[in-house]
Amino acid sequence: MRLNKVPVREQDPEVRKKNFNEVSFGYNMEEAMSEAERCLNCKKPKCVPACPVTIDIPGFIRELKDGNVGEAAKVIARSSCLPAVCGRVCPQEEQCEGDCIVGLRGEAVNIGKLERFVADWSRQNNIEFTEKQPANGMKVAVIGSGPAGLSCAGDLAKMGYDVTIFEALHEPGGVLVYGIPEFRLPKEAVVREEINLLKKLGVKLETNVIIGRTVTIEELFKDEDFKAVFVGSGAGLPKFMGIPGENSNGVMSANEYLTRANLMKAFRNDYDTPITMGKKVAVVGAGNVAMDAARTAVRLGAESYIVYRRSEKEIPARIEEVHHAKEEGVIFNLLVNPVAILADERGWVKGLRCVRMELGEPDESGRRRPVEMKGSEFDIECDSVIMSLGTSPNPLIASTTEGINTNRHGCILIDEASGESSREGIFAGGDAVTGSATVILAMSAGRKAAAGIDKYIKEKYMR
Ligand SMILES: Cc1cc2nc3c(=O)[nH]c(=O)nc-3n(C[C@H](O)[C@H](O)[C@H](O)COP(=O)(O)OP(=O)(O)OC[C@H]3O[C@@H](n4cnc5c(N)ncnc54)[C@H](O)[C@@H]3O)c2cc1C
Repeated sequence: MRLNKVPVREQDPEVRKKNFNEVSFGYNMEEAMSEAERCLNCKKPKCVPACPVTIDIPGFIRELKDGNVGEAAKVIARSSCLPAVCGRVCPQEEQCEGDCIVGLRGEAVNIGKLERFVADWSRQNNIEFTEKQPANGMKVAVIGSGPAGLSCAGDLAKMGYDVTIFEALHEPGGVLVYGIPEFRLPKEAVVREEINLLKKLGVKLETNVIIGRTVTIEELFKDEDFKAVFVGSGAGLPKFMGIPGENSNGVMSANEYLTRANLMKAFRNDYDTPITMGKKVAVVGAGNVAMDAARTAVRLGAESYIVYRRSEKEIPARIEEVHHAKEEGVIFNLLVNPVAILADERGWVKGLRCVRMELGEPDESGRRRPVEMKGSEFDIECDSVIMSLGTSPNPLIASTTEGINTNRHGCILIDEASGESSREGIFAGGDAVTGSATVILAMSAGRKAAAGIDKYIKEKYMR
């Protein structure tokens, strides 16, 4: 058995840092077949329970080995409606690949890239594989078109429900379109194509509708005859540090920066979306979102810095993202914490006042607590600061709908088994429930809620 993965071809860092094209080229047929050969097709596979949507991983790889790529796609489609997305952005190293038996002796099978290959190939070859039950006439509203809403809608449509997704923005996809940059997840070729497959299943999409403003959940029930509602409204409310100078011009949240850059196409000359084109951009934080912001800033022509209060070991972003950011020239300032943002006489950012940190005893998260080193103050020169400190759910829906209970972070409380909230007929899942997490966890929550909604409607309206 070969112990190493078939390498994945990528754009050269010096070339890609000047464009927004996808970094990874993925596998071609020959490479995918060769990597598939490394799978042991375990009788009791550990990779399957490690996948939040329990894709039959050995099953699809077996079909691939036999040259049946279309069949492999059908196996995946039974559990996931966004395989080309997940093949690109899932943290496989912590999930399926983390538990792969091959990984005990060498490198785990590259399950993510195989999933991506199968999904891309079947889309490019127009493989049709959506099995659907007859229409049952029951209407379900889905709020938000991120991975939670899309997977809930997809499952319900397959079960025969009449599903409408309401999306606040002008483009469906949630973080997949407004957050994750083009160079990690192509929008036209991947996200829109996967959303089109849902439309083919009969899912209706209404964009530019803010539930809680344009129309309320109460009105969806009363006036439009929806029998159940799924809330997949995500966690788009950014956190700030509360340090002096944070209101200066040139400070923004990573969500705002990435939305302007990605969704509003600020990087293209033929769009007039304003964006601060800093020459020196400091990104505070070190999660996936921070890496995306820092790497976007590089592509917009800036010198880009990560400022993070813990050490390399505690960086929460995926290893692959950190590696790519370093290759593209992002500079990492570790064990450094901002205490103030410095502005010039016109109120524009001119620097970041920071202190150096050292790691003390572990805190409640289990990670070693960063402790300020006395007298270590210093300034980082920069003209833009992007805050990437995490996000929480927007309170709009809970505050305009009676009976939805939330926790102190604004996350909607649900029954774990069914996904139902404290208000009958309203279900929820994804980041709106957990706070900011991952695509696959949001998808898994959407699927679970779809099953909960099906049971609820059948018991209440279809007996
Ligand atoms: C920049 C960035 C990079 C990330 N990278 C990764 C990664 O590499 N891998 C990974 O697994 N995860 C990643 N994540 C996290 C992942 O994208 C989220 O966990 C996931 O998208 C959550 O899905 P969701 O459906 O719950 O919410 P979202 O994707 O946030 O979708 C919610 C949708 O609801 C809409 N909405 C909100 N309120 C309303 C309303 N009142 N009415 C109508 N519509 C509404 C929003 O406009 C949005 O479209 C990243 C997140 C960000 C921000």
